[in-house]
Amino acid sequence: MYNDFVKFIRSIYNTNDFVPLHAPYLHGNEKKYLEECIDSTFVSSVGKFVDRFEEMMQDYTKSNKAVVCVNGTNALFLALKLVGVERDDEILTQALTFIATANAISYISAHPVFLDVDRETMGLSPESVKAWLSENAEIRSGSCFNKKTERRIKACVPMHTFGHPVKIEQLVEICKEYHIELVEDAAESLGSFYKGQHTGTFGRVGVLSFNGNKTITTGGGGMLLFQDEALGNYAKHLSTQAKVPHRWEFVHDDIGYNYRMPNINAALGCAQMENLDMILANKYETAQKYKEYFKNNTDITYFEEPCESKSNYWLNAVLLKDRVSQNQFLEYTNDNAIMTRPIWALMSKLDMFKDCQTDGLTNTIWFEERVVNIPSSVRF
Ligand SMILES: *Cc1c(COP(=O)(O)O)cnc(C)c1O
Repeated sequence: MYNDFVKFIRSIYNTNDFVPLHAPYLHGNEKKYLEECIDSTFVSSVGKFVDRFEEMMQDYTKSNKAVVCVNGTNALFLALKLVGVERDDEILTQALTFIATANAISYISAHPVFLDVDRETMGLSPESVKAWLSENAEIRSGSCFNKKTERRIKACVPMHTFGHPVKIEQLVEICKEYHIELVEDAAESLGSFYKGQHTGTFGRVGVLSFNGNKTITTGGGGMLLFQDEALGNYAKHLSTQAKVPHRWEFVHDDIGYNYRMPNINAALGCAQMENLDMILANKYETAQKYKEYFKNNTDITYFEEPCESKSNYWLNAVLLKDRVSQNQFLEYTNDNAIMTRPIWALMSKLDMFKDCQTDGLTNTIWFEERVVNIPSSVRF
């Protein structure tokens, strides 16, 4: 029954071999820049590609400061530190996300609160956040507290699922009203825009990831985006061992981190950025092909970008009718060497987070039983 889909994938990817979910595209200046690193000996934490990569990303996202990091998970952790999250604070986020979001919160011994996503975006729902806050939160001397747990609610971390922008403007408003810091997990949404503005630039801090399966890759890597330049400069300081600049002295004025991205990874990043527009255009075209293919399908619905948004379509997603057909589709496609996968196990169901507060997660569970990601690499 899903045979036609397998044929369609083989035709658009023009192959009879295994089709991965998302392979990196490395056909630009990657090799050349890596050779430059090796020839110059600048393979480690100092080198021109680090600065260049930050500048390229700052320009592309129209941020006032971009700071590279060794990976997206550590960038998220640092972002939470930078906005003042402390032990025992509560952080509002979604259960429908990759584990990194929840792990970063746990590194500070803060408590994630898992709220529902909405049907249009698959990302954190402003309605759910508002409803939960109006029931549980109160403002005391300029800070937001949970009336039941007595903990401070310090930050909100929406995630732009599969590159589809969340309703970020409404979340900005709610966070302002409740004195909550907004940190955007934009790890999946490089090249995604909400009303023409790049995702990750609405909150106090935004975080990107360049892991091997993301839209562009640096092997491993992440980036922090800031509108507040001073906070960005402080992030750079903290991520480089908090060393006070001096030609020979080693003086440090804070507990810093060794989170600086090595030059060889940044070299890959620069080469990847040169091809970003092409990669995005190619992926957008794939999305249009899927949209057309599934148009009249009554069993499978293709998930499209939300209105007022431009999605990078990092991972294409379809919705099956129920758990049973979801499993059948997964089995058939994977049996036929087409890689597909269900959505992540919900954070609220994992052992480490099973006692965390939730709001019932109606839409989240609805998606969990239906979503399957389908091949999304650049096509040749
Ligand atoms: C990829 C990803 C991250 C960061 O992952 P790293 O592999 O550490 O770069 C964070 N959050 C989400 C939602 C992600 O998909």
